[in-house]
Amino acid sequence: MTSLISAVVVMLVIGALLGLLLGVADKFLAVPVDPRVETVSGMLPNYNCGGCGYAGCSGLAEALVNGEVKKVSQCKPSKEEARQNIVKYLAETPGPDGNTVTVTM
Ligand code: SF4
Repeated sequence: MTSLISAVVVMLVIGALLGLLLGVADKFLAVPVDPRVETVSGMLPNYNCGGCGYAGCSGLAEALVNGEVKKVSQCKPSKEEARQNIVKYLAETPGPDGNTVTVTM
């Protein structure tokens, strides 16, 4: 019976240590993500067709937010209204660095 209790205690200690380790790793190894990428990705059609040259819509969204791509029309399936919304959103919403992004239709 004592060996069973010892095993449970050891498992609890190991679990607590691993949980602590994961918590510390999450704090120090976290990659900062620009929240605009997720918003722009949600404005794109999300067909993930790859027609824009990126593996999926999130790739183009990241490229637009980073300034790597300057024209929203690189996504051919997107509708004009969605393109206008993306242009407006990026022009009005500053990123973590305080800067906005200028893209065109
Ligand atoms: S072309 Fe448009 S719909 Fe297709 S993956 Fe690129 S962003 Fe998504």
